[in-house]
Amino acid sequence: MQVFRGIPVSQGIAIGRAFVLDDVRQHIPRRTVANPAGELTRLESALTASRADLTRMREQAEEELGTEAAKIFAFHQGMLADASLTNPIRERIEQDRVTAEYAVQEQFRIIADMFGGMSDTAFRTKVDDVWDLHHRVLRHLIGEHDSQLDEMQGDVIVLAGDLTPSQTAAFRTKSVLGFGTDMGGKTSHTAIFARALGIPAVVGLERICEVADDGDQLIVDGERGVIIIDPDEDTLEEYRRHAKAAEAYALTLTELADLDPVTTDGVRIEIMGNIEFPSEIEMIQRHGGDGVGLFRTEFLWLTSDHEPTEEEQYDYYRECIELVEGKALTIRTFDLGADKYTQERAMNPERNPFLGCRSIRYCLQNLGMFKRQLRAILRASAHGPLKVMFPLVTNTLELRQARMIFHDVMEDLEEEGIPFSRDIPIGMMVEVPSAAVMAATFAKEVDFFSIGTNDLIQYTLAVDRTNERVASLYSSAHPAVIKLIKEVVRASRRHGVEVSCCGEVASDTDATMLLIGLGLRRLSVTPASIPYLKRVVRSTDIETCERLARTVGSFDSERQVTSYLRDQFKKHFPDGIGGRSAD
Ligand code: PEP
Ligand code: MG
Repeated sequence: MQVFRGIPVSQGIAIGRAFVLDDVRQHIPRRTVANPAGELTRLESALTASRADLTRMREQAEEELGTEAAKIFAFHQGMLADASLTNPIRERIEQDRVTAEYAVQEQFRIIADMFGGMSDTAFRTKVDDVWDLHHRVLRHLIGEHDSQLDEMQGDVIVLAGDLTPSQTAAFRTKSVLGFGTDMGGKTSHTAIFARALGIPAVVGLERICEVADDGDQLIVDGERGVIIIDPDEDTLEEYRRHAKAAEAYALTLTELADLDPVTTDGVRIEIMGNIEFPSEIEMIQRHGGDGVGLFRTEFLWLTSDHEPTEEEQYDYYRECIELVEGKALTIRTFDLGADKYTQERAMNPERNPFLGCRSIRYCLQNLGMFKRQLRAILRASAHGPLKVMFPLVTNTLELRQARMIFHDVMEDLEEEGIPFSRDIPIGMMVEVPSAAVMAATFAKEVDFFSIGTNDLIQYTLAVDRTNERVASLYSSAHPAVIKLIKEVVRASRRHGVEVSCCGEVASDTDATMLLIGLGLRRLSVTPASIPYLKRVVRSTDIETCERLARTVGSFDSERQVTSYLRDQFKKHFPDGIGGRSAD
C-alpha cells in the first residue's frame, strides 16, 4: 500500500482500477506491463500510422511546395524504416517488459544524443527532426491508449501528469470514477470541471504516475487530497464505510432545498450556481438555488471539435432560459485562452498564456466569433430574462469596445427583424487587480460586477492557479485579496451597482461569514455546495459576520486569517457540516 498526498479539488471517494495516461509533452515514466506482446502490437500499429502520416505529408508538400521542401519528410521516413532505431525498441519491450511509450522515448533519446554529440553541424541540426518524429509516434501510442478509455468496463480512475479541461470534459461520456494528476492547482479549470462532474479528484500529486501501473487498485479521497495505491483490506473497508455515510448524509441535505438562505436576523442571501453546461442547472434547481450566477460558455467548445455555431449556441442559451424557470441566468461571454482550449490547439502556443491573449482580449481579436455569440445570446433573450458579462476586463477601453460590439449586433438584429430584449443588464467580471482598484470608475459603465476570485488571487499574488509548486502561496485569505474584495463591494454600493462573487472562495464554507461580513449578498457557487452554504447562512446573523470581517481586516498575514476563519467555523459548527468536518 502506498499513500500519495496532493491537493484536494473535488469531494468524494472513489474506489477503482488505475488507467494511466501519459503525455507527449512530459517525461514518460518507466512502467512495466504483464503483456509485452500487447505492447509490441501497439508499437507496430503506431509505426504504421506514423508512416502513413509521413507519406501523406510528403505527397502534400511535394504538390504544394516542390520536391526540395518534401525532403524533410524523406528523412523522417528513412529513420522509421531503419531497423537500428526500431529493433532496440522492440527488444526493450520484450526484455524489460516496459510500455511501448517508455521504450520509444528511451530509444529516441539515445538517437537524439548521438546526433547532438556529432561534430558535423548538419547532423546536429537533425536533433529537432528526431524529437519531431518521436512526438509523432508517441501521439499515436498515447492517442490509442486514450481511446481505450471508451472501451474500459467498470470502475476506472484516470491518473495523468496533467489533464486539460477538454480531456476532463470528455470524461462525461466515459466511465471515469475519479482522477489524480501530478500537476495542477485547486482552481485550475480541470479541477473546476471535476467538481462540476461530481467526480472525486486530487491534483498536485507530483509523482504518482511514475509509480502506478494500469490496473492497480486505487482509492481517491477527494476530501483529504489522498490517493492510495494497492490499499490493504482494512483501509478499503474503512473507505467503503465512509463513502456510505457521506451518501446517507447527502440525503439529509435535501430538506434544505425548500428553505431560503436567510440569516437569523432576516437578511436574504442569494445563492446561485456556476455552470459549464445547461445540464448542471438541474442540480441548482434541486438544491433550491437562485439560478445561474455564472455560465462558463467557453466549455461548450471543450467537448466539440469546432466553434459552436450561432444556432447551436442559441439552442443552449434558450435551453438554459427554460431550465432556470425565470430565475437569474448570467451568461459570461467566451473566456477562452490561458488553460482553456486555445493553447492546446494553437500552432504557436503563447509563452505566457495567463498573461496573454485570453478572455475579452481573445474575443476582441476574433470579432466574427464574438459577434456570433452575442447574436445567439440576444436571440435567446427574446425567450426570457438573462444577463451578459465580459471576462477579464482590465481597462475601460475594452469594456467600451465590447459594449459597442454588443450594440452593433443589436442593430443588425433589428434590421433583420429578429426579436430580442433591449433590457439586458451588462456586467463585468472583476478578476484582475486593475479592475478591482478602479471599481468606482467601472461602476459608472456597468449594471453589475461579479468578483472572480480565482483569477483575482492569481494576478494579485503572482501565483499561477494551475501550478502545484506554488499552490501553498495561492490563498483567498491573503489580506491583499480581502482588501480588494472589500473595495469592490464598497464601490458597487456607492454607485448602486449589483455585486456578486463567483470565484471558488464563494463555495468555501469557511469563508461564507467573511464574505457576508464584507457586504456581499450574492454568491455564485459550485451547485453541489448550495445546501452547505444554506446551512451556514441560516445559522448566522449580519452583525456576527461584520464583526468577524472587522477582525479579519486587522490581520496582516494569510495564516492569521486562515486559522481565525477555521476557529470561527469550528466554534459555530463544532460537528462540521455535512461530512465536511472543520478539520
Ligand atoms: C474566476 O476567475 O474567479 C472565475 C469565476 O472565472 P474562471 O474560474 O472561469 O476563470
Ligand atoms: Mg476567471
